Amino acid sequence: FGMKRKPFVGGNWKCNGKLSGVKELLAAFKGIGADPKSVDVAIFAPTLHIPAAQDCLAGDAAIQLGVQNMSKTGEGAFTGEVSAGQVADCGLKYVLVGHSERRSLYGETDEDCAAKTKADGLTVVFCIGESLAERQSGKTTDVCEKQMKAVIPVISDWSKIVIAYEPVWAIGTGVVATPLQAQDTQYQVRRCIRDECGAEIADSVRIIYGGSANEKNCKALGELPDVDGFLVGGASLKPTFTESVPTLQ
Ligand code: PGA
Repeated sequence: FGMKRKPFVGGNWKCNGKLSGVKELLAAFKGIGADPKSVDVAIFAPTLHIPAAQDCLAGDAAIQLGVQNMSKTGEGAFTGEVSAGQVADCGLKYVLVGHSERRSLYGETDEDCAAKTKADGLTVVFCIGESLAERQSGKTTDVCEKQMKAVIPVISDWSKIVIAYEPVWAIGTGVVATPLQAQDTQYQVRRCIRDECGAEIADSVRIIYGGSANEKNCKALGELPDVDGFLVGGASLKPTFTESVPTLQ
């Protein structure tokens, strides 16, 4: 990692696993010895498994927990939803917003993403990325810019935002973006932030890569100037996930 920004590595467990598996995995992750001053590590567990995960990680400041989604509203008559305030009140630090599965399977719009990005008290890992058809027709930068511009107006504290570039064609497919594709796109995302918000914000915000990232391919990706870490899905369900944490490489 040749960069000045603090790396961020997230494990997105999605809707996988039973309670017993949570305990086993976190027992394997615990004690990785990552220094929270030099790297942020977050596990996005199924919401129902969070209390058990908190018990497993008690006393280990190296690994933080987050949820994979939340309500775009506050508390109230919203059956089945969980609000940002409730997430923060339970001691969680992070939330994923705008994951491609939320966008494509649950109809989450740019406007929904903007509402969720306002989350008070949480750090938002905001996901963007193009489909295969969009990449093939040369629209990657346009798509990522549009997704960024939908949330930029609501961001008041950029220290509480991490951008996850996750090309949809790379998610869960085993087809990881090439270093050139990841760097090119993440450079463009940072350029868009620079154009909209200035150099100071653009130079400090972390932009991480996701999409079939694992402990093997992350080494080459992590050396790229605009890649500040990873959002790992499938490979975060194995004990080897911790090998993706840069300071341990
Ligand atoms: P994957 O998922 O690593 O399994 O491709 C990444 C993600 O969806 O965040």
